[in-house]
Amino acid sequence: MQNLPDKQLNHFRDILESLRVELSELLDISTGASQTVTLDQTTVGKLSRMDALQQQQMCHASRSAYRKRLVAVERALQSLDQGEYGWCEQCGELIDSRRLEIKPESARCIGCQQLSETEGA
Ligand SMILES: [Zn+2]
Repeated sequence: MQNLPDKQLNHFRDILESLRVELSELLDISTGASQTVTLDQTTVGKLSRMDALQQQQMCHASRSAYRKRLVAVERALQSLDQGEYGWCEQCGELIDSRRLEIKPESARCIGCQQLSETEGA
């Protein structure tokens, strides 16, 4: 089986590295945001407190999404180093590069991803 061409691998490495930086920054910023919310709760009334809590929950949700993505990005970078990038971890087929273009941290091909989603895994 043939790997992705170097040119393409370098292209995805670039994207993944900037994604990693971006996500780390986002996580730093949102840490700051949830701290602000906590502080606000001591100074505002009940209604605004509800708002603040809601905001905090949303913040938590996006934080865990960012963190999940960051883990996937780091895994993808690792597989790049090991020369295994671009292969589906499930079925071992080459992942469609159009899919990688949209989601370069993908560890599975579209078929396996859909399967795992319908199975709820
Ligand atoms: Zn697959």
